[in-house]
This record gives sequence, structure tokens and C-alpha cells, in this order.
Amino acid sequence: EATKTKDFLGHPGGLSTLFFTEMWERMSYYGMRALLVLFMTASMQEGGMAITVASAAAIYGLYTGAVYFMGLPGGWIADRLIGGQRAVMYGGIIIMAGHIVLAIPSDATFFIGLILVVLGTGLLKPNIGAMVGQLYAKEDQRRDAGYTIYYMGINIGSMIGYFVCGWLQVEKGYHWAFGAAAIGMGLGLIQYKLTLNKLEGAGSEPTVKLSSGATKKAWTAIAAFLVGLAAITTMMMTGVITIDPVTVAKYVAAAITVVFLAYYAGIYFFGNLTPDEKKQLGALFLVCLASIFFWAGFEQAGSSLNLFGRDYTDRMIGTFEIPTAWFQSANSIFIIILSPFFAALWMNLGKRMITPSYGIKCAIGLIIMASGFIVMFFAAQIAAAGLKAAPFFLVATYFLHTVGELCLSPVALSAVSKLSPKRFAGQMMGVFVLTYSIGNVVAGLLAGSFDPENVEQMPGLYMQIALFSIAIGIVIALLTVKTKVWEKLAEKKDCNQN
Ligand code: GLN
Repeated sequence: EATKTKDFLGHPGGLSTLFFTEMWERMSYYGMRALLVLFMTASMQEGGMAITVASAAAIYGLYTGAVYFMGLPGGWIADRLIGGQRAVMYGGIIIMAGHIVLAIPSDATFFIGLILVVLGTGLLKPNIGAMVGQLYAKEDQRRDAGYTIYYMGINIGSMIGYFVCGWLQVEKGYHWAFGAAAIGMGLGLIQYKLTLNKLEGAGSEPTVKLSSGATKKAWTAIAAFLVGLAAITTMMMTGVITIDPVTVAKYVAAAITVVFLAYYAGIYFFGNLTPDEKKQLGALFLVCLASIFFWAGFEQAGSSLNLFGRDYTDRMIGTFEIPTAWFQSANSIFIIILSPFFAALWMNLGKRMITPSYGIKCAIGLIIMASGFIVMFFAAQIAAAGLKAAPFFLVATYFLHTVGELCLSPVALSAVSKLSPKRFAGQMMGVFVLTYSIGNVVAGLLAGSFDPENVEQMPGLYMQIALFSIAIGIVIALLTVKTKVWEKLAEKKDCNQN
């Protein structure tokens, strides 16, 4: 059947709609996020909030952890109540509102802005990603390539965000940069609205039908949640309750970990699984562990590494001073450059019948990421000596972090879809996303120990993070000797089903 919309790079036209919407959303997300810790820790004279590094890093970790966590209800709301298309539209509007609030030069409204971005992103991000898959018929071979193109859009957008917002912060101040994030999201929304027809109905309706009673209950629960959130926010802003972000982050990290373990154990013990399915879930557990430790290190990009860029890196090139946030663009740039090589690498290994297990790839990704912190150990020694490190150190660290990301992140996602029993596929993806949340909150706690007053401790801290993560990576690698056999059970099962 002929489609009316034009193709996008040999893919359904709807991919262009989602590509550019997500590109602008990521521009706003990473552009703002790159400045968050800098803004919170900057002095009042510099236009900042003068918060301690420990608190700022904890707030940052809670913020990014919450963004991932809210993806769970966000996906649920789209699937059962409003459909993906509306979820993306409303999510984008809420995100834009959040950035507009952040653009107001008042510390009083700061947390309202952050909460709006968290809620909006929870609604937008998982659903726009799911809609990419829905553009293709079940047997369409182009789906994986479609996701690769989509991932490019993510990273092109992030790169634009780092450059634009990072530059605006230096030239005009923080709130102008946050305003630019709002404009970026606005452009994405206009583009989305104008090209919505290209989606040809993908995500136009909820996929799971709820009874009218259940629908009512769901909306009541959402309303109750929002009222509770508003009440707590108001109490915080008026000083009725004061919270210590570091303490909250510790409890939240522990709480999400308990939820993660309980959910995992629940499916494992009470999901009526066959012995083979249990073994596959066992193998997947190692992937989840690797994911938690990976993001706990990786996500220091916006916190401890960002501060290292600001305070201990020589950012002068002649008379030009590199804006601090620009360093973080290294991740997006390396992703764009390296993705084709990794695609070719897995293909090539496949052709030679070398198929490394999911577990070993993730362990290797964790170890490569961790070795980035060895680079930081040397950089921190320069800082501890009272000098400024060359930009090379951060760029090399981000290079290793990106290579690690490409070994682990897409591999872990595909492991979840392959190793989870089909009837728990959606729920297991949700459980897996909790590993991002835990990792992000822990990253904030770790970054908080980089006290600028104790520069001499910095090399030791980076070395500890490196060695600890490498040790975990090695343990996981050793355990995959056992679990790679369990992973193979999934392939056997697939053969039988065909
Ligand atoms: N940078 C990618 C994005 O924002 C992936 C991040 C992740 O998987 N944690 O979509």
C-alpha cells in the first residue's frame, strides 16, 4: 500500500517527525542539564545559588534519577490513557514550561522548573522512543537501522544543546541559557505539531484498553500524586520543611534498589517461570548489575567532571576561554563518530561466528568506562599540585566513557528484550530502567565527595572509583562463564518457536 508521506533516508516519513522532535528535546534537556551543577554551586555574585558541592551533586543525581524513574508512569499513561502521540505533545509542553520557569531569574521557583522538566520528560521520552518502533511493520528489517538514525538525532540535539547553552551562559548568564532550552523545546513542538500526520496513526490511541472504572481510578491517582507533589514543593519553598539533599539521595537510592530487587525477585519466584526462563533472568541480572555501576560512574559527567572542567582545567586557547559545558559535548560527538564502527564491529564478529555474550560485553563496557577514571587520577594529581590540567584529560575520559557506553548501553537494552519472558517484556524493561535511576542517584552521591576544599584527596577518590568499578567488572566477567550458557537458552527457545 502506497504511503502518502515522503520517505526519510529510506525510512517511513514519520521517523523524520520523531527524529527532529527528539533532537530538539535533547537539545533542551542536555543544554540545561550541563549547567545545572555549575549554576547551583556558583556564588551569588556569579549569578548562582551558592549551594555546596555535596548538596548540588545530590540534587543533580536526584533530578536525573527522577527523570528516568518517571518514565515508568509516563509509559503507563501513554499505553493506557492517552496514547503516545498526546503523551509526547503534553510532555513537550510541560518540559518547555519547566525551562521557562528556570529562565526566570529567581531561586524561589528553581525547583518548580526542575520538577516540570522531570514530569514532562517522563511523559515524552519513553513514548517517543516506543513510537519509533511502531513506524515499522512487525517483520520490517529496517527497524534497527531506524533506531540507529534516531540515536543520531538524540546526539546531534545534545551537541547543539551543549554548545548553545554553554556559550549563552558565559555571554549572557544562566537564565538566558535556560531560556534557550525553552526555545529549543518550542521549536521541537512546532515541528512535531506540523508533521504529526506523517506518523500515520502510530501512537494515536492507547494500546491497552482499560474499563471506564479503571480509567477513572487512574486519573484520580494521577491527580492525587500531583496534589501531593505540589503540597510538598510548597512546604519546601516556604521553609515549612527543610530537607538535606544528601540524606534524601541516600534514602532514595536505597528505596529504588529495594523496589528493583523486590520486583526482580517477584517475577523470578512468582512469575510461573520455567527453569530455562529462570536461568535467563539470572543471566540478565548480571547485565543489570553492570548497568547500575556503569551509570554511577558515567553520569558524573554533569557533576564532578563538569566541576573539574570549570575549576581545574586550562580552558584558554589563546584569548578564547572554552565554556565549561562544551566539554560534555565530547560524549555526543564521539557517539556520532564511533557508532558506525561499533555497528561494523558487531557485524564482523558475527560473521566470524564470534558472538560475545551480553554479560561479557557489559562487563567490558564497565571496565572501559572505569579506566576513564584512571585518566582522571592523573588529571587530579595535576590539580592537587595547584596547576590546571590540559583539556586532553577530560576529552580522553569522555572518549573512554563513550566507548564503554557503546559496549554496554545498546547491548543491555537488547539483552532485556531477548532474555525476559515475553509475557513480562514491558515490565522487565521498566525494572531495567530502574538501574539507570539507581546509577544516577549514586553518581550524585559519589560526585558530592569531590569537595573543592580538599583537592589533595581528589586523585585518591578517582582512583577508588576506577579500581572499585574495574573489580566489579572483573567479577561480572568471571560470572559470565556460567551465565553465557544460560543466555544461549533464549536462542534455543527462539528456534523451537519458529
Ligand atoms: N544519551 C542518550 C539519551 O539521552 C542515552 C542515555 C541513557 O541511555 N542513559 O537518550
